Amino acid sequence: MQTVTVIGGGIVGLTTAWALSKAGVAVRVLERGAVGREASWAGGGILCPLYPWRYPDAVQALAWRAAAAYPELATRLAAITGVDSEWTASGLLILDGEPAAAAAWAQRWAQRVVACAPDEVARLEPALASTAGTALRLPDMAQVRNPRLLRALRQALVQRGVEIREHCAVSGFDVASGRVTSLHTPQGRLPVTGPVVVAAGAWSGALLAELGAPVPVAPVKGQMLLFEASPGLIGHVLLRADRYAIARRDGHILFGSTVEQAGFDKTADPATGERLRADAVALIPALARARLAGHWAGLRPGSPAGVPVIAPHPAISGLWVNAGHFRNGVLLAPAAAELLADLLRERVPALDPAPYAWPESTR
Ligand SMILES: Cc1cc2nc3c(=O)[nH]c(=O)nc-3n(C[C@H](O)[C@H](O)[C@H](O)COP(=O)(O)OP(=O)(O)OC[C@H]3O[C@@H](n4cnc5c(N)ncnc54)[C@H](O)[C@@H]3O)c2cc1C
Repeated sequence: MQTVTVIGGGIVGLTTAWALSKAGVAVRVLERGAVGREASWAGGGILCPLYPWRYPDAVQALAWRAAAAYPELATRLAAITGVDSEWTASGLLILDGEPAAAAAWAQRWAQRVVACAPDEVARLEPALASTAGTALRLPDMAQVRNPRLLRALRQALVQRGVEIREHCAVSGFDVASGRVTSLHTPQGRLPVTGPVVVAAGAWSGALLAELGAPVPVAPVKGQMLLFEASPGLIGHVLLRADRYAIARRDGHILFGSTVEQAGFDKTADPATGERLRADAVALIPALARARLAGHWAGLRPGSPAGVPVIAPHPAISGLWVNAGHFRNGVLLAPAAAELLADLLRERVPALDPAPYAWPESTR
């Protein structure tokens, strides 16, 4: 197969390049800025959808295949690059769980959910503000330190000989005889002979719009705080009222996140930061004394029900998309990449690709 060009160097583009490269396919990645600095960097790295039972089967299928693949991916990347992406099975503690829905979900998807009375919650997480009611503990859920995972992936790709071209924004496509022949870049027209995969995150919908069959992917802003706290202050990823806290091994605690319709605006505004800080202190009072080390925003690739499109373009041969992973792209990426790579190489995929097809309404 001729060289595959992947547009976008976030977690989805990099894992796609990794899956293809491991299968022996030559790949190059074109990235508008620096690799791994957009949503994939801004996110939290929780390897479980929040309130996972709320998601459709198409997300579940990718999620649990990817979650199972993560330990080996992290170990392999660390062995190749020396970069530890800190995959950690910290478990997820949901303080406002929905027990009946959770039980049905756990049975259907073979996951473990443990109900915890308030005294058990206090024993597990003494830094939490006191809680009433039963919490749900998902002991197998993990997290990854996403900026390090991105660094490891980048380095592993370079070591495999994958070309990563940064500061190379694709602004358009030349199409002849039903296939892409070149890409418009600031450096001029870049000829392509092999397949092209659009993995441009929140920008994928806008980039593909000119080609007549748009994908329903649009930005959804999320703001996040970073605290410097003591290692071990909390253990589980904690979730309440759609706000979560994630402790890294070195004591940093991420707290997020907002869900905002703000177009492509990525401003981290002080008023929202203050609200997030108040929510964080309400959940973990000791954070009132912790130094605030960061506040940022990222643009999630929003899509209907959070289901990504992983499919060939309906009319242009050799043009593919892997985008729209919304709130779960760090989690879903390895399974989405595997599916894209299998389809592109005409292999029978492990998952049914039908739910991720280019939407009918745009054909
Ligand atoms: C606050 C926040 C918290 C989150 N928490 C989690 C979480 O805990 N767990 C989880 O699984 N997910 C989480 N997510 C979601 C997750 O981050 C995204 O779903 C995921 O990063 C999407 O990856 P991506 O590669 O598609 O997009 P991105 O990481 O945005 O990468 C797309 C890349 O394409 C590049 N690009 C765009 N246009 C072009 C172009 N024209 N030419 C060349 N390059 C281009 C961009 O510069 C960018 O580098 C969170 C997101 C946010 C914002």
